[in-house]
Amino acid sequence: MNEVTIRDILTSYERKRDKAESDLEMRKKDVYSQIPEIEEIDDEISKLGLSLAKLVLLNPKDKESIVIDAQNKINELKEKKEYLLDKFKVPKKYLDIQYDCNLCKDRGFLKNGNKCNCFKQQIINEAYKMSNLSRMLDSQNFSTIDPSMFSDEIIPEANMSPQQSILEIVSICESFVLDFDKDNDENLLFYGDTGLGKTFMCNCIAKSLLDKGHLVIYQTSFKMFEIIEDYKFKNTDEHISKDNYNNLFECDLLIIDDLGTELANSFTNSELFNILNTRLLNGKKTIISTNLTPLQLGEAYAQRIFSRIFDKFRMVKFIGKDLRWEQKKVGDKYYIFYFFYYFSLKAKKFSCTNFKYKKNS
Ligand SMILES: [Zn+2]
Repeated sequence: MNEVTIRDILTSYERKRDKAESDLEMRKKDVYSQIPEIEEIDDEISKLGLSLAKLVLLNPKDKESIVIDAQNKINELKEKKEYLLDKFKVPKKYLDIQYDCNLCKDRGFLKNGNKCNCFKQQIINEAYKMSNLSRMLDSQNFSTIDPSMFSDEIIPEANMSPQQSILEIVSICESFVLDFDKDNDENLLFYGDTGLGKTFMCNCIAKSLLDKGHLVIYQTSFKMFEIIEDYKFKNTDEHISKDNYNNLFECDLLIIDDLGTELANSFTNSELFNILNTRLLNGKKTIISTNLTPLQLGEAYAQRIFSRIFDKFRMVKFIGKDLRWEQKKVGDKYYIFYFFYYFSLKAKKFSCTNFKYKKNS
């Protein structure tokens, strides 16, 4: 997570605390105007608190009795105050300060210096936003994988079925997540034809790591090179483009989807090398997904990238038929349902009747 984002979150805490305090002052004013005795009691309590310190300083020997005496008086006043509030039907915690998070009192940190859960959650939320993933993650995560969607027919060249293969891939991906914090140089390169679940698997990994508070950036290679170009050649919004650019190097996990769809030239070659190499040197992990075979990758990218970088990636091959077409068949049922639902609404609205839908097989 970059410093600017953390600073923004901490500033938002400051604002929350200011607001909580000013809201309390407003509520106090409101109560004081209607029940002046309450203001007198509050004044007395704070005066007692101040004089207590002075008394203890002047009579250190009698410290204990002075404190007990003051405490009793304060309790008495508080009881009186409660009685009055009750009498005028003021809600119980109306004169307490109201924080969003009572654990850290909107400071983001607990007394022992650890981050409060509310702070961790905000970091995760920011990470989701920055990762470009928030929309699809609800439907695509390890718990939504259905191996039965994959054929169990053995593919001779692979000597296994797509179903066996995907189960193996899931276990590779789950170990990747489990060992993510280990310094084990594990990077993944997913390859195989379109629609075999590569992006789905990237999303599963991203979701698991985001939930653990890691910053994951997901970009198609096309968009990634656009970000790099923006940063290097254009002066649009400097602050944002610099952040976006730096995130490619600094994020905990970078997922580059669809590598090979961009126009490969000496610029993209050297930038790709720079990003992957810097990440490797800093022990940051990367996942690449591509429709190209390792051989085609070698042809598309300069040899130094291929040998020095891709060497550090575990090659994961996706096999089978395009799932998007398979899914479409299953999806048809929902499509028909939606179709009927939509037209039943329309029918109500326009009294359109006798609508029939015949399924094409
Ligand atoms: Zn908190």
